[in-house]
Amino acid sequence: MHWVRGLAMMGLGLCIYFIPLITPDDNQRSVYVATSMTMFALGVSIYVNGIRMLRGYRIYRYRTLLVMTTLLACNAVMLNMHAADKWIILSNLLVLVWVFSYGSRSLTGHGRDFVAQVFWLCCSLFGGISLMLGLFAIEVGLSDETTLVTFIHWPVHAYLTTAIMLVLTIVTSLLLLVMNVRTQAGLQAIATLDGLTGVLNRRGLQEAANRMQAVSQRISLPMGMLIIDLDYFKKVNDVYGHLVGDVVLKSCAGNIRGALRGGDVIGRYGGEEFCILLPNTGEQEAMVLAERIRRTIEVTPVSIAGVESMSDDTHAIKCTVSVGAVSSETVGYALDGMFAAADQNLYKAKQNGRNRVASNIELLMTQPPATGKPVKRNASVIA
Ligand code: GH3
Ligand code: MG
Ligand code: MG
Repeated sequence: MHWVRGLAMMGLGLCIYFIPLITPDDNQRSVYVATSMTMFALGVSIYVNGIRMLRGYRIYRYRTLLVMTTLLACNAVMLNMHAADKWIILSNLLVLVWVFSYGSRSLTGHGRDFVAQVFWLCCSLFGGISLMLGLFAIEVGLSDETTLVTFIHWPVHAYLTTAIMLVLTIVTSLLLLVMNVRTQAGLQAIATLDGLTGVLNRRGLQEAANRMQAVSQRISLPMGMLIIDLDYFKKVNDVYGHLVGDVVLKSCAGNIRGALRGGDVIGRYGGEEFCILLPNTGEQEAMVLAERIRRTIEVTPVSIAGVESMSDDTHAIKCTVSVGAVSSETVGYALDGMFAAADQNLYKAKQNGRNRVASNIELLMTQPPATGKPVKRNASVIA
């Protein structure tokens, strides 16, 4: 809406600017120029506010209003005092230079991605217009009053207005493209991310697993998988309530994420179950990571303001997790098989008393690896 209002105001300003071309009236010429330039500057300011809103920057509505009111008042005083055309045009042009450079500053990009590059392009275009208007202002400043009588007929107007309109059309189209890209990314995130914990949801996890499996199999690298389940989580809900349960779940997801390496993928597999996909990871390495996660959760109680622990008098809720680990080395690359085996190992960990890790490590020691690559046999990693 800012862009629509801004462009409409600029269009109106331009129409008024060229009225003296149709009805030449020397007395009214300055009035038209001053009014139209003020409207144009106001239109650009509204447009720039739209840009700032898109970028998440603060909008200074009152500052814009103050500058425009001051410009209007200055124009009224200068027209009343029959000031020379030069000063009226010059002061308005300088305000236009300022609003375009303000717009250019609001468009500076951060980063190197597509959106940042679009912002840089728009920033340069606005900067270019600001520069052109600055040069125009210098030309007006160096002209004498007799030359300024024919000001509205100067050919530079045709180039300048064409350039400004072209830039505004390009910038508006590019910014709409940015909005579209952001909407797409937002929809993609909604479709693949879990709303509570921020990790991948089941669908996102499945997509990531398909990709990782295809790559791992193609280049014959092992792929690991962990399924992590919070122990006695139902109790947390029953004792502290579901809202606290949600906070605990979110915090555990954050702690697990913190223990992962770059390239590992985490997703919410079920209610209080998480699945970790591990590229280029054999079963023993998967066990090491699983143990690290188990230990992290064990030693990191979740502090919640206003909630007192039932087990001691701290404000922290202690949690533990059981982990089922598996890798393509023991069960092959078929994802269904990996999920099922990891689930089975999780069940084993639960059966053995919870707060522990279970895997097919014994199986690995008796069978040749599925990748066809030799695997270091070291069963002493996990006690
Ligand atoms: P176990 O050690 O055998 O895993 O015991 P458990 O109590 O964790 O297992 P169970 O599967 O019986 O209970 C899981 C509980 O997780 C049940 C459900 O209320 C809770 N849960 C699942 N999703 C959410 C959630 O999004 N928020 C909250 N607060 N609780 C959830
Ligand atoms: Mg559980
Ligand atoms: Mg469960």
